[in-house]
Amino acid sequence: MEQKDLDFFREYLTQELEEIQKKGEHTLEDMSNQNAVYADPADRASHESDQAFTLRLRDRDRKLIKKIREALGRIEDGTFGICEECGEDISISRLKARPVTTLCIECKSKQEEEEQLLKP
Ligand SMILES: [Zn+2]
Repeated sequence: MEQKDLDFFREYLTQELEEIQKKGEHTLEDMSNQNAVYADPADRASHESDQAFTLRLRDRDRKLIKKIREALGRIEDGTFGICEECGEDISISRLKARPVTTLCIECKSKQEEEEQLLKP
C-alpha cells in the first residue's frame, strides 16, 4: 500500500476513534444526570431499559474502538491492508468501506459461507 493511502486511513481511523470516544463520554454524562431525576417507579423502569440499551450500544462501541486501535496498530507495523488469511492485499475500495477489516473479500465470503454451514 502506498504511503498516501496509509496516511489517509490513519487520519480516518484516528478521527473515528475520537468521535466514538466523545460520544461515549456524553452517554455517561447523560446516564448520571438522569439517575437523579426519576422518583416515579414506572419512569424509572423505562429509564432502566433505556440504560440497558445505552449499555449495549456502549458494548458495541467498545468493540469498535478495539478494532480501530488494532487497525491503527497494523498501520504502524506495516501489515494494514493485508489479508490475515491469505496474505493478499485487501482492495482499497473494500478498506474504504470497512477500514477495520482484516480479511479480503474472498476470505470474508468464504468465512461467511462456513459460518452458514456451522449453523444448526
Ligand atoms: Zn484473503
